Order: sequence, then structure tokens, then C-alpha cells
Amino acid sequence: MSLKLDGKKLSLEIEERLKNYISIHKKIAKRAPGLAVIRIGEDQASGVYVNNKEKACSRVGIKSFIFHLKDNVEQKEVEKLINNLNFDRDIDGILLQLPIPKKFDEERLISLINPSKDVDGLNEINMGKLVKNEPAMRSCTPAGIINLLRSQNITIEGKKIVVIGRSLLVGKPLSLMLLNLNGTVTMTHSKTINLNKLCKEADILIVAAGKPNLVDSSFVKEGTVIIDVGIHRLKSSDKDKTRLCGDVLLEDVIPKVFAYTPVPGGVGPMTVTMLLVNTIFSWQKQFGLSSSLNDLLP
Ligand code: NAD
Repeated sequence: MSLKLDGKKLSLEIEERLKNYISIHKKIAKRAPGLAVIRIGEDQASGVYVNNKEKACSRVGIKSFIFHLKDNVEQKEVEKLINNLNFDRDIDGILLQLPIPKKFDEERLISLINPSKDVDGLNEINMGKLVKNEPAMRSCTPAGIINLLRSQNITIEGKKIVVIGRSLLVGKPLSLMLLNLNGTVTMTHSKTINLNKLCKEADILIVAAGKPNLVDSSFVKEGTVIIDVGIHRLKSSDKDKTRLCGDVLLEDVIPKVFAYTPVPGGVGPMTVTMLLVNTIFSWQKQFGLSSSLNDLLP
């Protein structure tokens, strides 16, 4: 029987440890860690993600500050907000909830975030450090995936790993992190030729294409580990209802694989947990707290 990589369960376990860590160290810091989340416009999915983040913060004892801006706000005003948050001593992490409306210069906004508060790890300083394999804030989804693999002692070193997707949010940083951990990584994308054949060689296949059910059992070899990053809300056969699915046709793939992530309950919860970890990491650095945070992760 194949192994379910249960991100929900692992994230709750890590959260419990984070909560204890905060309650012990709050006495020294004299304040809770603080996370600022900036949301622009009315994108529904973003609303759900921001809510989830707010709830997760409150579960572990992080104070969240939600800035929900209207989409008629000016770029300059968002820049000003980011600058203020950069200097705000109660804020350890700043997250710009993506996507934001197209009229904004997203890259500029991300690059304005102080790298030490860039809890999404998307700022070019943190990306550059990732390329150089230097310690820095790491992107949450890739870091969550690596912790999920570690939690089940799934070896990365020496393994053939195929990543589908080369986005700045997932595919690229994930491929670099796996490379830094000595995996033999092939990064693929929408222009890759013979994707199916490449995927079949993978010991670990990670799918972040944003295409529902792109990968079926013909893409995987027997005994592989498959990680499904995609998340889509589709209409179900009962037309009033919707259901969530990933980029992988799971029911087809599960009988063939050694381990898999479910959707929902796989990568998603781990992404949120890594956001909490990054915020606490920044808080810990600001107050010179004992650096046992890594001991709390798998
Ligand atoms: P994106 O659209 O920015 O990038 C998709 C990448 O996949 C691109 O590099 C593209 O070249 C590649 N691609 C697209 N179609 C392909 C195909 N047919 N064959 C091969 N490659 C193809 O998306 P993203 O931001 O990287 O997100 C990917 C998916 O992951 C989305 O479904 C998103 O909702 C989901 N996501 C989930 C989490 C989570 O926490 N669970 C976090 C981030 C993103």
C-alpha cells in the first residue's frame, strides 16, 4: 500500500512545537512575533488563503496584521505601506498575497520588502542567497515540501528528481533547494519535449504546473514518490457543488507509487506552516533568542 504524506497532520505537529517555542521565548522578547499580510483587491482565493494564514497565526500565538487594500489604491501607497512595515519594530514578517491586480508592479513591491522580513522568500536578495546556497529566508511551498519528504526519511541526495514547473513561486526555488541537497534535478516546463518520458525516470516527481490532472499513471515509474503542488476548485457532477483537485490524477497514480501527497491536505498546510516558521525565525533573530528552531522541524 502506498504511503500518504499527510501534510495536515505534520503541520499540526509542527504548529504545536512552534506554539510552545513562542510561549517560552515571549518572556525574553516581551512581545509576540508579528506578521503583516497585504492583500490587494477582491480575488476570492486570496481571501481564503489570507484567512487561513490569519487562523494559523492565532493558533500558534503570532500576531497578524491584515492590510486589505482596495484595487484602486496607487502603487505609491502600497510602496509606502511596505516601507512603514519595514521599519515597524512590531513586525517580523511581511507577506504580499499573490496574485495582485495586473496594474501593480509586483516585482518592485516584492523587492522593496526588507529581506530579513521577506517571509515568502521571494525578494531577489533571498533568491540570490538560495542560488549561492547561503542561509536565508526560503520560499514557503518548496520548504514545506522538503520538510514533508524529510518527515518520512525520504532521501533526496543522489535521487533523480523531476520538477514540473519553473515559476518563481514554486518550481525554480524548489529545484534549487533540491539541488543544494544533492538531488539530481531536472526542471521541466510547458515547452519541455517528451515530458512523459522524463517524468518516468524520476525517483521523486514534483508537479507544480497549475493544470488539473495533468499527470496520470503513464508519467510515473513503479515505486516513485509523487508530490502534487497544484490546487484547483472544479465543478463536481452535482452542479451546485465544487471539489478540489491537484495537477495529478491521484486515483490513477496511487496504486503505482511508493508515496504521494493528497489534495487537499498535502502541500497546502505545509506552506502555511513554513510561513509561521519564517516569521518566528525573523523574530528569533531580532531578539537573539536561542536558535533551536531547526530542532522543531523534521
Ligand atoms: P505558474 O502558472 O506560475 O507556473 C506554472 C509552471 O508550470 C510554468 O513554469 C509552466 O511552464 C509550467 N507548465 C504549465 N503547463 C505545463 C505543461 N502542460 N507541462 C509542463 N509544464 C507546464 O504556477 P505556480 O504559481 O507555480 O503554481 C502551480 C500550481 O501550484 C497552481 O495550481 C497553484 O495554485 C499551486 N500552488 C499551490 C500552493 C500550495 O501551497 N499548495 C502554493 C503555490 C502554488
